[in-house]
Formats: sequence, C-alpha cells, structure tokens
Amino acid sequence: VNLATLTHPCISNQNGTYWFYEKSAESFPGQAFALEINKILYHTKTIYQDILIFESKTFGNVLVLNGIIQCTEKDEFAYQELITHVPIMAHPNPKKVLVIGGGDCGVIRELIKHVEDDTVEEITMVEIDDMVIQLSCKFLPSMAYQIRHPKVNLIIDDGFKYLKETTKKFDVIITDSSDPEGPAEEFFQINYFKLLLNALSINGIVIMQSSENIWLNLAYLKDLIYKAKQVFNNVQYCQCYMPSYTSGQLGLIIASNSEGDLTNPKVKCSSIIINKSTTVPLCCQLGQVIIYVGKQKKV
Ligand code: SAM
Repeated sequence: VNLATLTHPCISNQNGTYWFYEKSAESFPGQAFALEINKILYHTKTIYQDILIFESKTFGNVLVLNGIIQCTEKDEFAYQELITHVPIMAHPNPKKVLVIGGGDCGVIRELIKHVEDDTVEEITMVEIDDMVIQLSCKFLPSMAYQIRHPKVNLIIDDGFKYLKETTKKFDVIITDSSDPEGPAEEFFQINYFKLLLNALSINGIVIMQSSENIWLNLAYLKDLIYKAKQVFNNVQYCQCYMPSYTSGQLGLIIASNSEGDLTNPKVKCSSIIINKSTTVPLCCQLGQVIIYVGKQKKV
C-alpha cells in the first residue's frame, strides 16, 4: 500500500512525514494520540470494520480497527498479560477458558503458558472477523503464533450470539473486544453480563476491557461497573499503563459470584515467563502479584 496514495481519515502528511492520528470527537474530544508511520502494511474494509496495519517509527507494527489502536508490538504485552493472568490465577482450578474477540491472538499466546503449566485444558475463542486473525498471523506473528495450538478451538462467529446459544460452562471468560463503536457494541450492556453469568461454571470469573478509562470518561466507567454489579456480587477493577491507548491507562473489570479478592492469586503458578523484554520497567501491580517484565512470575 502506497502511503502517498492511501486516503484514510486517520492519516495525514505533516511536512513530508506521515502520521496516524487516533481521534474521537465523542470519547476524547480535543485531544489525539499520534504515531509516525514508516509504511502501511495492509488496509482493508471487511463487513465488520476498517482494518489498518502499519509499521510505526517507534512502536513496531500497529493494528487499528475503525480508527482505534488495538495493539502495538511495543506495549501489547502489558494488556495481554493483565487480561489473561489475573483471572486465571484468581481461579482455584481454571480448566475451561472462553475468549470472546481477541483477533490479534495475544491472549491465546498468554493462555498457552497455562496449558503448558498443566493448568488450563481447553480454550475456545470466538472472534467475529477472521480477517483480523489472518492479518495478525502475517503482520503480528509474535502475538499470533499460538493460534493453531491443538488446545485452541477457534470459532468464527459473533461472541454475543455464541453466548446466547451455548450450553457449555467455562471457568474463566475473557472478553478481549474492541470498543463499543462497531461490532462489540453489545458487550458493554447489562444483557451481556447476564449471558456471561449464564455461561460460567460455579466460582467462574469474567474479565473484560472497560473501553473508557479513568482520565477520559469516569461516568461511563462507573456506569459499566454499576451494570456489572447488577449481575455479579463481586466486581473489581484492575489496570495497567498502555502508552498507545489514548491517555495511557487501561482498565479491566473482573467479576464473579464467588467471594474474595479477585486480584489476589489463589494458586501459586510457578514458572511462567511473562515477557521476553528485559528493558521495560515494572508494568502491572495486581494486588499481591507483581509482574516483573523479563523475569519469572513471583507470587
Ligand atoms: N486489545 C484490544 C483493545 O482493547 O483494543 C482488543 C483486541 S482484539 C483485536 C478485539 C477483537 O474483538 C477484534 O478482532 C474484533 O474483530 C473482535 N470483536 C468485535 N466485536 C466482536 C463480536 N461481536 N464477537 C466476536 N469478536 C468481536
């Protein structure tokens, strides 16, 4: 794809260099996050969304859906580790795991560490847009390389529809969705929390990205937590730093009908290597779990 000929509402030429701008008049008026583009790797429109993948100057390859950054090679691990390891370690015996969304496949990469640790036995992933998976395999291989693992049952379908129809029960459900503007809209409604509860085994745990963050729209976040509390007795919030998400903070809602601190690990998970990088400082502090990047998990 030639940068000079690509017309995209998020890309502009600034004195000869091309920049991607993440803007949203609704979610974060008056501000933008920008990354300088080295080259466009792929651009397409599926029936679900606009998909753009570019090589950035400083954040590696970047996946963008409907103008919103989903992940960058530089900081994706902070999100993927938080959304995966917190619920898995908070559950006393997580055998069956469901992932809704997750097309970049980074959550699968993290879950396979728990398969290899003989904890998780079965992973189902329901992603609506097969093109996101295919393009991630091609352009984000460090995230997507475990998607063909034999323990992964990949279903291309609408996650909301899947939850309405399934009779299966899961110990942990991870909603790794895009933001509400687009095919993930229904994930931020009370009916979705009810479907999640219905698909959970006893003591099951759900976790989802909260779409808005503490700096941009606290009222939205409070409302989402309020909705979760209508369905679950135990609702908590955990967070990490994500420089590539506008305003730099990302929060997750973790919920269950079991008691106890959901950000406090129930089991000692001995030797999961969290991330290859040795240079990035401490990224997440989760109750008693501190994940040190580049070192082994300590409980
Ligand atoms: N970490 C990212 C973030 O917070 O922005 C999200 C990663 S992942 C790429 C989001 C995925 O959710 C996308 O691949 C998108 O296609 C998928 N998705 C959106 N709506 C969906 C739905 N209704 N059912 C299943 N998957 C859905």
